[in-house]
Amino acid sequence: MSHLVLVLLLATGLLAVARAHRPSALASAQGTTYTCAGYVALTFDDGPSTNTPAVLNALRRTGLKATFFLVGRNVQAHPDIARLVVEAGMKVGNHTMDHAHLPTLSQAAMRQELTQTSALIETTTGRRPAWFRPPFGETTPAVEATARGLGMTQVIWSRDTKDWAGRSVDDVVQVLSQVRPGDIVLMHDAQRTAVPALARIAEVLRSRRLCSGQLDYSSTAEPAWDGLTYHAIAGRWS
Ligand SMILES: [Zn+2]
Repeated sequence: MSHLVLVLLLATGLLAVARAHRPSALASAQGTTYTCAGYVALTFDDGPSTNTPAVLNALRRTGLKATFFLVGRNVQAHPDIARLVVEAGMKVGNHTMDHAHLPTLSQAAMRQELTQTSALIETTTGRRPAWFRPPFGETTPAVEATARGLGMTQVIWSRDTKDWAGRSVDDVVQVLSQVRPGDIVLMHDAQRTAVPALARIAEVLRSRRLCSGQLDYSSTAEPAWDGLTYHAIAGRWS
């Protein structure tokens, strides 16, 4: 075999490898790879908790990605687990220091909830949150403007698994089976349903060729409830 043939074979092989690893819209879930027909953003609120490492393992096993909206007091209680979230390749958002009812607070106290949390998340994990989610979905134009002034986009959700209300794993998976591309799904990593649900969520998404994605800014106002809107949509994870 001539050197030229060898070089050509090598080049073809390298090209094939490059294609296989090209960061196209491919997802790998439980050993199979597929082209993404759309994205769904999985979000976990209220952590970090002692259950978070198990959730991170489940995400790793299933090839899913998620955004964790951290509560400042829980970051103070579990700084190592907050760092694990980032080390696992997940994204972190601001969910206030005290899981506060923000609209009941003074402007100064509300601002303090947001600034303190972003500073704490950054010093603990090295990542400054770009996204903010108001606890209980309770917000006002002043809350939204404060978050924006701190460089964050406010996001609510489009699908609530209600895992916080004692729902079963079946109930949680059922919500995921109804998602549409672009949806933002609310879950909580401290809930016992989180780990068992994730394996089945991966299957449900794969069966519909949907991939777990990141939060992206949307110029369209997405409706939440009671006239409340937000500017976010699920997009390709990067
Ligand atoms: Zn919350």
